[in-house]
Amino acid sequence: MTEIKWSEGTRPHMQVKEKKGVTWLSYPAFEQFPDIIHAFSTRLGGVSRGIYSSMNLSFTRGDEDTAVYENYRRLAVAVGFEMEDIVTSDQTHTANVRMVTENDRGNGIMRPRPYTDVDGMITNVPGLVLATFYADCVPLYFVDPVHHAIGLSHSGWRGTVAGIGKVTIEKMREEYGTRPEELYTAIGPSICQDCYEVSEDVILEFQHAFARKYWDDLFYKKENGKYQLNLWEANRIIMLEAGIKEAHISMPGICTCCNPEFLFSHRASHGKRGNLGAFLGICRK
Ligand SMILES: [Zn+2]
Repeated sequence: MTEIKWSEGTRPHMQVKEKKGVTWLSYPAFEQFPDIIHAFSTRLGGVSRGIYSSMNLSFTRGDEDTAVYENYRRLAVAVGFEMEDIVTSDQTHTANVRMVTENDRGNGIMRPRPYTDVDGMITNVPGLVLATFYADCVPLYFVDPVHHAIGLSHSGWRGTVAGIGKVTIEKMREEYGTRPEELYTAIGPSICQDCYEVSEDVILEFQHAFARKYWDDLFYKKENGKYQLNLWEANRIIMLEAGIKEAHISMPGICTCCNPEFLFSHRASHGKRGNLGAFLGICRK
């Protein structure tokens, strides 16, 4: 078993699950909703080799398609959904959130996607499984147990500056009547502040996007002129400001870059890596 390095000072941590040789992460807070399927994949349990070893979920980073399909098949069997039901994002660091319907079933896995530039998705269709992809950027999960709706968004630093978390919540409100105080959310495995050095131009964007009272919680300057940036806290602030209850936000407690054997990290691998996947779906009735 790969040793996992948990981050200090965040709570509650995710839990590790394992079935049929596949290891994934999940949130205890979501287990109170029996109609919700969710997972965050790890590197363990797939068939890909080399830099993609072994559970790579990207068809576009140079891995063999047959291996990637087998990885999806194994992960779906272990977690308990059908790979034919997956709908994938087309992540380009936008704050675009797409409402996904029955017509989207299988898009990105069973057939090419008929859309581009989609970093977030929402749906209320039972039997669909939303999927977004990671190797340091921040996954955001949203579950509305009242209106039986979900959202899943990719929030790198650009998406965080653009507030894709807030955009996702607003789109769920528009389409499904979601009230923020009833939403349960989770921030997924991604790069921690200790690992995330950025230059001043990035910090200027965060200073523009976030009120001054938050700056000390978000970043600090080092002697080399660079900064360490906290994307977990930035996304937590976005959720709190949008009206999510603090007790309804689960934190990851696990950093991709601190755990390069267990999770894919763009920084730790200098770009030689596969993709992890976040999955969120509503069970068939
Ligand atoms: Zn780290």
